[in-house]
Amino acid sequence: MIVTAHALAKTLSGKHLIDGKLASPQLGKNFPVLNPATGEDFSEAASGEAGDVNAAVQAALKSQKAWAKKPARERGKLVAEVGRLLSEHQEELAQLMCLETGKAIRTECRVEVSAAADIWTFYGGLGSELKGETIPFSHDMLTLTQREPIGVVGAIIPWNVPLLLMALKVCPALVAGNCVVMKSAEEAPFCVLRVAELAQKFLPPGVLNVLSGFGPECGGALVEHPAVRKITFTGSVETGKIIAHSAAEKLIPTTLELGGKSPMIVLEDADLDRAVQGAVIGVRFTRQGQSCTCASRIFIHRSLHDEFVARLMAKVNAMKIGNPFDETTDIGSIISPQQFARVRKYIDIGEKTPGAKAHYCGQLTKDPQFAQGLFVQPVIFTGLTNASPVAREEIFGPVTSVMMFDEFDEAIAMANDSSYGLAATVWTRDLAKALQATQRLEAGFVQVNQNLVVQANLSYGGIKDSGLGKEASCEAMCEHFTQKKTIIINMR
Ligand code: ADP
Repeated sequence: MIVTAHALAKTLSGKHLIDGKLASPQLGKNFPVLNPATGEDFSEAASGEAGDVNAAVQAALKSQKAWAKKPARERGKLVAEVGRLLSEHQEELAQLMCLETGKAIRTECRVEVSAAADIWTFYGGLGSELKGETIPFSHDMLTLTQREPIGVVGAIIPWNVPLLLMALKVCPALVAGNCVVMKSAEEAPFCVLRVAELAQKFLPPGVLNVLSGFGPECGGALVEHPAVRKITFTGSVETGKIIAHSAAEKLIPTTLELGGKSPMIVLEDADLDRAVQGAVIGVRFTRQGQSCTCASRIFIHRSLHDEFVARLMAKVNAMKIGNPFDETTDIGSIISPQQFARVRKYIDIGEKTPGAKAHYCGQLTKDPQFAQGLFVQPVIFTGLTNASPVAREEIFGPVTSVMMFDEFDEAIAMANDSSYGLAATVWTRDLAKALQATQRLEAGFVQVNQNLVVQANLSYGGIKDSGLGKEASCEAMCEHFTQKKTIIINMR
């Protein structure tokens, strides 16, 4: 099976997808793509720059009017067909993702392909929800609003969940009548390109174009292209701000899904088993913690601390870290040497903090074939404070910090003492406390006694430094991928 993923990556090597066809970059430049589990470059991706961006945007522009004229439900049907096709290709896409991201095939890659296919199918059914309003303005004037497509949308994604993020951006944009030019992440270009290639079976040429390339050269050129009238972006706060500046120069709207430092609060009366399981899911150990919503700060009532840490460690200790293609592996590799160094840096900071203890967990592979792999044993810190860089800055690794509190108000204050505001969870059997927490936590996505990942039709998006706008829902499609026109008809 590994051969299949390698072979597929070779056929997609050095290509963009522009105007319905695989195309080589105009300047003929490629860059190597790493298999982070083995440390080997396994293929090369096309290095896009302004000329490729322009070709893709022109293709999108050329196709957009006809695409927008199709009835919305027809567009939706085609998008839903792509979702079905992705389900049929689940294994192939999962293997390709596994190869380029080092995420474990069983715990992550297959799950993500199926979640992405679900998003395509979900949005495919929402064409008829692109409704406007009638407004009681004056009895002899018919006053209404209608939602219209914006035009060409530029979409930029990172590498951690490439197919899910691709779906969250492409599907609502297309169903709303826009055409898309997407730039994939440098580290994970192939599964996104393969989805775009498969999608051509149903989408007219030019409706969905995918480029690979580096941030400033390719992503920057996309943001700055005059014909791109909306940017939807997921990535770091720093890049989000650069994009927001460029978009402001053009006066175009942006949706920005940025980082997080998501708190998990476990109150004195919580069901400890559920909370421990919630932490295993919340820290996204199986994704090497590479998630914006990683529960990287766990605030636990002092009375539960030792028991909670012991049970959490026992669960993570049972996890196998190694060959991502192995069906028994729970945790794969970190995506890149840069990210590996960053995770190590934060672990070192924590280890050097007086009073703190790093609990290393999980069974690391000893297979010499993976000796160069970017594997990190999960670390659960105790004894750190909320002021530590480990608790303040986004690590994007399998690292969490368990910190104690005595009073409910103290827990809420610590949770909110962050520049981020993406997600938060609270664990308690006390209904009043649960409700209070949902009202007081500064986050865009708050859950009680569970830790679900992004779900179709539940608006997802952060506040504060975690970004602007919502994704995953009908609201996200209507509010972020259309523009409203007000129409007044004098009936006299
Ligand atoms: P991460 O640390 O998750 O890789 P980044 O924000 O650096 O986050 O990257 C997310 C995406 O943004 C990637 O596709 C990257 O190539 C792109 N990117 C990086 N810098 C820029 C930029 N200046 N303009 C547009 N896109 C960029």
